[in-house]
Amino acid sequence: MAKEKLIIIGTGAAGYTAAIYAARANLEPLVIKGLQPGGQLTTTTEVENFPGFPQGITGPELMDEMRKQAEKFGTRFVADMVMSSDLSGRPLKLTMGGGNTLEADALIIATGATAKYLGIPSEQKLIGRGVSACATCDGAFYRNKPIAVVGGGDTAMEEAVYLTRFASKVTLIHRRHEFRASKIMAERVLQHPKIEVRWNSVIDEVLDVTKNDVTGLRLKNVKTGELSTLDIQGLFVAIGHQPNIEPFKGQLEANDAGYLITNNTRTSKPGVFAAGDVQDPLYRQAITAAGTGCMAALEAQRYLEELGHSKA
Ligand code: NDP
Repeated sequence: MAKEKLIIIGTGAAGYTAAIYAARANLEPLVIKGLQPGGQLTTTTEVENFPGFPQGITGPELMDEMRKQAEKFGTRFVADMVMSSDLSGRPLKLTMGGGNTLEADALIIATGATAKYLGIPSEQKLIGRGVSACATCDGAFYRNKPIAVVGGGDTAMEEAVYLTRFASKVTLIHRRHEFRASKIMAERVLQHPKIEVRWNSVIDEVLDVTKNDVTGLRLKNVKTGELSTLDIQGLFVAIGHQPNIEPFKGQLEANDAGYLITNNTRTSKPGVFAAGDVQDPLYRQAITAAGTGCMAALEAQRYLEELGHSKA
């Protein structure tokens, strides 16, 4: 296979924006679609804070528009996954799910991040049947029903407050006696009449007496060891995200949580750039992902020009 100038990995807001900029600059980018084309936004409903859409736009629609815009300027897409990579020399090499190898002079990693789950078997079994990691996607299914949120960070606070719109009651389960979340977000939770906090508690088991849907939780108090049952019909897991760096592991500098470390989207390897949630533990917004996608494309363009690829 011929060597590519630029390969972009991922089709979230970061990947598509990088593709729009790179294609307009005649870099003829090849975009690897990945497992979830459109990225995390395809699992949300209304997006009300993306500038330019005062009436709001759904996540899937927004991503579809971005894809069309990238295609309009000649972006090529392949439906495949990157399994491993060799970023040690030139060209940069990617081994694909289909077994073939792709080569490129420059790479933009926009693989995003995936919501973390607790990992207990009963939770895994009930994902999509009462267990969710996305309040905005699934909250409306729990109108007037009791639900629980697990986590103590800003995401858990935000999701717990959001879910009070639907649920009859929200129980927030946290493994420690204080939240990690910012004070202002924590206060909103603590003062909310529909939210009760279970401190020092972990989920021992997700219960499904009907064997089909979540009916409750068995909780364990980590201080006393005491077990108790909580009747709920939905569990929202909000314990953070895992950046998707598996195919590049050990080759690029990352922080303790696994997020790629970047300097103006440049990673620790020349010619390898990163954009969006894979390098952003802090903001994780569609607009910031798009912004860094743009930055990565401009940086890649500069890099390729230095390598001798002609200016657009
Ligand atoms: P965080 O890593 O900040 O918090 C994760 C929470 O989940 C922690 O309270 C942690 O507990 C708990 N947790 C982790 N693993 C487990 C487990 N296995 N079992 C039980 N509990 C667990 O992730 P967030 O997604 O909340 O936030 C990520 C970043 O995004 C933060 O920087 C946050 O500030 C930011 N953010 C900002 C928002 C805003 O400003 N509007 C909204 C959402 C996120 P423990 O505390 O004990 O470690």
